[in-house]
Amino acid sequence: MKIAFNRPSITDRERAYLDDALSGGHYSGDGPYTRRCHTFFESTLGVPKALLTTSCTHALEMCAILLDIGPGDEVILPSFTFVSTANAFVLRGATPVFCDIREDTLNIDEALLPALISPKTKAIVVVHYAGVGCEMDAILDVAQAHDIPVVEDNAHGLFGKYKGRWLGTFGALATQSFHETKNLTCGEGGALLINDTKYIDRAEIIREKGTNRSRFFRGQIDKYSWVDLGSSYLPSDLLAAILWGQIERWSSIQNRRREIWTRYDTELTEWADQNGARRPIVPDHCEQAWHMYALIMREPEDQQQLIARLKSHQVMAVFHYLPLHHAPIAQQMATRQPGCPVTERISERLVRLPFYYALKDEDQDRIIHLLLDRAAT
Ligand SMILES: *Cc1c(COP(=O)(O)O)cnc(C)c1O
Repeated sequence: MKIAFNRPSITDRERAYLDDALSGGHYSGDGPYTRRCHTFFESTLGVPKALLTTSCTHALEMCAILLDIGPGDEVILPSFTFVSTANAFVLRGATPVFCDIREDTLNIDEALLPALISPKTKAIVVVHYAGVGCEMDAILDVAQAHDIPVVEDNAHGLFGKYKGRWLGTFGALATQSFHETKNLTCGEGGALLINDTKYIDRAEIIREKGTNRSRFFRGQIDKYSWVDLGSSYLPSDLLAAILWGQIERWSSIQNRRREIWTRYDTELTEWADQNGARRPIVPDHCEQAWHMYALIMREPEDQQQLIARLKSHQVMAVFHYLPLHHAPIAQQMATRQPGCPVTERISERLVRLPFYYALKDEDQDRIIHLLLDRAAT
């Protein structure tokens, strides 16, 4: 009866690889399955280096260490994002400077960036919301003019493209998530993609507790020691085995998500027009990653009513994100905060419909019919 908002899809393939990894005996990180995953991301996306991490949050923390972020530094990021995009840098002592988003894609508004940059700006972090690319040309122009590295929080955007190029390949660094709510999952997991090769050696060290153990295992040195800051950011090879099963299914997962997305969008066109709701906007130069289906309602009451009405029929729709610049912890920080009116407006109006690979046609029918009935009443 109940239709969940999200449900991970694990098949016999993932179970078989997990079983194989258990039998193989390499339970810690960087075993055979981790290596397979690394090679896949490096060859498919064409990134110089991919490193699996324990989460996207941890990959972002690695970025903050790699970019030598410290107290007094500022990091520009959208207010309309998950807390980890900010927290990873705040943990190092940085002050977040929140940027508003574009009305159409809900991505960071590149036109606002120049006014937010200061001599203290140490990084610009962008989020490809719903897997639709940010305006990377303009963002990289501004960043390069000020010599500021760009980090892509690509948790939503794996396999999406901007102007024909994979998301996650634009920033000096990019991060992925394999949390159970993302397109590919191993429960909890992530990856750091390194496009600027000068970060590779240090990233391996930071991920291995601040030691040069990776070089030791490759036989490049005869003992390993403590050489830098670091933590334990590498996932068990058991998780990598599950992820490998997902990776092998990636194109069918993406295809099914495209079908579900397209069906919502087609069937809800008329309803949206009649009810003043806005369907997602994907610019022609972006190939989206089919990560979510979100509607923007006319008024905040419409958001609450729709979620409540679906819930009364056991359909779990959700809203997100609460603007980060409004969080009490953000307000305690001395931010030069210009206000983010679009973020505030969108946050009160957005509704995400259940969206996952294993969503059955008849369940999607029920959701769509529930929405359409409302127009009739
Ligand atoms: C899910 C998500 C994260 C965090 O991912 P974890 O793997 O759970 O740490 C970070 N940023 C964005 C935009 C996300 O959606």
